[in-house]
Amino acid sequence: MTLAAPKTRKLHVVTHGCQMNVYDSARMADVLAPLGYAAVDSPEGADMVIMNTCHIRERAAEKVFSALGRLRDLKEAGGGTMMIAVTGCVAQAEGDVILKRAPYVDLVVGPQAYHRLPELIARVHRTQASVLDTDFPAEQKFDFLPEAAAHQGVIANLTIQEGCDKFCSFCVVPYTRGAEASRPAAAIIAEARRMVALGTREIALLGQNVNAYHGEGLDGRSWSLARLLSALAEIPELRRLRYTTSHPSDMTEELILAHRDNEKLMPFLHLPVQSGSDKILAAMNRKHKADDFRRIVARLRELRADMAFTSDFIVGHPGETDADFAATMALVRETGFALAYSFNYSPRPGTPAAGLPQVPAAVKDARLYELQAELRRQQDAFNAATVGLTTPVLFTGAGRHAGQQAGRTIYAQPINVESHASLTGTVRTVTVTHANPNSLLGNLEQESLAA
Ligand code: SF4
Repeated sequence: MTLAAPKTRKLHVVTHGCQMNVYDSARMADVLAPLGYAAVDSPEGADMVIMNTCHIRERAAEKVFSALGRLRDLKEAGGGTMMIAVTGCVAQAEGDVILKRAPYVDLVVGPQAYHRLPELIARVHRTQASVLDTDFPAEQKFDFLPEAAAHQGVIANLTIQEGCDKFCSFCVVPYTRGAEASRPAAAIIAEARRMVALGTREIALLGQNVNAYHGEGLDGRSWSLARLLSALAEIPELRRLRYTTSHPSDMTEELILAHRDNEKLMPFLHLPVQSGSDKILAAMNRKHKADDFRRIVARLRELRADMAFTSDFIVGHPGETDADFAATMALVRETGFALAYSFNYSPRPGTPAAGLPQVPAAVKDARLYELQAELRRQQDAFNAATVGLTTPVLFTGAGRHAGQQAGRTIYAQPINVESHASLTGTVRTVTVTHANPNSLLGNLEQESLAA
């Protein structure tokens, strides 16, 4: 007897937020593929639409509801058969409210339950009622999610850790993603090997607090991130490794030394500091001081002179005075960042800082403007300083213009070179000739043409 192939159904996934949501969206599509769901670019005519949401965005829940309103219209126009699912951190934090305010939503699924999507969909069909699954189950979703099925690109992400135990006062992650959980090294290495076999050459290890990684190692003991990175570096065709996002308190000496000793680990670190004021760092429950951050940066620069840093800043946390903000500006000027992300503090319902007296909006805006002007100046200076450098570039595909090939530098800067030959997946030596605000131009070095 031969089994009939499942009926083809159209799946549209909308992804908001961080790289971990991008990774989760791809895994959800993989979970649903055996049921016959194939990805389409638009929600029109889709059998199922998944909104994978992010709670970090300002007024996140309101934006979800207005997007859901548009989906409701599409669902009604199509006779009501389209299944609508809300996933991600807004689903986890506000699942009950979603089902109350948008009863046409069929499924609300928290980040720990994606592997149960097929059974949840079946339950919706069976009961003709909406289903909510925002439990934090004892089993880990990674044990049940299928492996990445398709080529993820020359540069790809791999989630190794999820959740966080730090409870920063402004952040919802510990509430929406749960406690820190690390995948076993064997599963990560097997997934990395498959990705590399399909053509990936650079892997960024992802986790909400990635440098707190403590998964079961190949020897049955708990492995650190540094140990895992060293095992991954043994995959011959894998050329580059990165990891994000890190917490200063978990930057161990072992991990710092990995930047010197692991040749595949790029000299580029995203290390959020959030503020330069110890008083505000304490109010944020960050568990580190500004000088801890300075020490990590100095130590890494001592070990690798070409090390560059990116970071995150929150401006206008409750209690931030002019002097506190000046301390942030001083830290920024001292450090010199390649790039940094900065945001005004906005209260997240349910987080401790949300109930405190708030800094006036105009003050926050003025501080953010000043900080972003300095960060932009530093980013431009960093890119300008790469002009004239001869540096390895990992090529990812054709460039935007005919006759160009595009790649990434060791600092992940997009760069284009003139070449009619495909260089995809190779690392070549390039001399940087020009810096645009968001990308570079370069020339291939002759000897690298034969590489
Ligand atoms: S360490 Fe990061 S993920 Fe964890 S609570 Fe703080 S900001 Fe959120």
